[in-house]
Amino acid sequence: MKSDVYYSRLEKGKNRESCLNTLLNRIKDFLSEFKSRGVGTFVGIKMTIGDKANTGYIKPELVRIIVDNLKKRGAKPFVFDTNVIYTGQRQNAVDHLNLAYRKGFTPDNIGCPYIIADGVFGTDSRIIKVDYKNIKEIRVPSLVSVLEDLIVLSHITGHLFSGFAGSIKNVAMGMASRAGKQVQHSSVMPAINTANCTMCGCCIMICPASAISEKNEKAFIDSKLCIGCGECISACKFDTVNINWRENTNVFAERMAEYACGILSQIKRKVFINFAFDITEECDCISGDDPKIVEDAGIFASKDILALDKACFDMLTGKGDAFSRNGKIKTHLHQFEYARKIGVGKLDYKLVEV
Ligand code: SF4
Ligand code: SF4
Repeated sequence: MKSDVYYSRLEKGKNRESCLNTLLNRIKDFLSEFKSRGVGTFVGIKMTIGDKANTGYIKPELVRIIVDNLKKRGAKPFVFDTNVIYTGQRQNAVDHLNLAYRKGFTPDNIGCPYIIADGVFGTDSRIIKVDYKNIKEIRVPSLVSVLEDLIVLSHITGHLFSGFAGSIKNVAMGMASRAGKQVQHSSVMPAINTANCTMCGCCIMICPASAISEKNEKAFIDSKLCIGCGECISACKFDTVNINWRENTNVFAERMAEYACGILSQIKRKVFINFAFDITEECDCISGDDPKIVEDAGIFASKDILALDKACFDMLTGKGDAFSRNGKIKTHLHQFEYARKIGVGKLDYKLVEV
């Protein structure tokens, strides 16, 4: 049987709020599962605010609509994210929360608290045993390990390693502790093509692990220190930091699928909503107000995370795969197939336009 994916098209003259309201009205059966149960139903709304310069993130006004909808059902929603391994304003909860408030994610605006799930320094990390090909244990904040009710809000973007970034990436990376994020990135090991290195020093300045130094007047990566975050690849303007795209990124995609599967198997009730507008080549961790690579489509929702991402991807790539970076990245295709294989969800879906 195919999984249902609901789609509210962002038509000309229709604003994003009404697009979302139309969708929420159609999936009210899904949302009714979050009704109050005794002492109250704590519904975690997972999303990301993007980094400082990012403008494509899901705006507080849209989050507020979902929060109010849940509160009407007697639920106690809260919005949460985790600290990142990249440099920027989200490496610890203090800077992260200050940035969230500056971007409008105050309790007054969104109607509920905004929480950093893995603590001030990202050290709250519990181990859950799993048994996948690459991963035998996942590391998540204790909040994630006890969460029963989850709504995942994902802004669709491209991604340096995974090609397409939707709900699977949001859950796998965004609901892992920093230690879990590092494990997922650890297959991505960049190398420097010294012939082209001008020793400008940009990669050294940006590396969050101090893994890059100068050696024989060229940049050098110490593989024992590298955490595979990929920041040096974006930072180098001379296309000098490279990775083995096919081998490295396929394992990266598999680890993400395994993390998503492991995390979601712990959580009883879950709904996934993808926002397909302001789609940039890089994800919200890196991207500023970059040129859009695909036209806005609308908002999608499903209880099947894989069917949702695949439906979204198919809709956005009808005129060609803008996420592949001219054919260089095919990781998303591997991710979809591998996610199906390990039981993350179904690739067969029925798209229901609302
Ligand atoms: S950013 Fe590129 S060119 Fe500059 S030092 Fe690093 S590898 Fe060399
Ligand atoms: S060397 Fe590059 S990929 Fe490794 S930690 Fe530093 S910036 Fe990240």
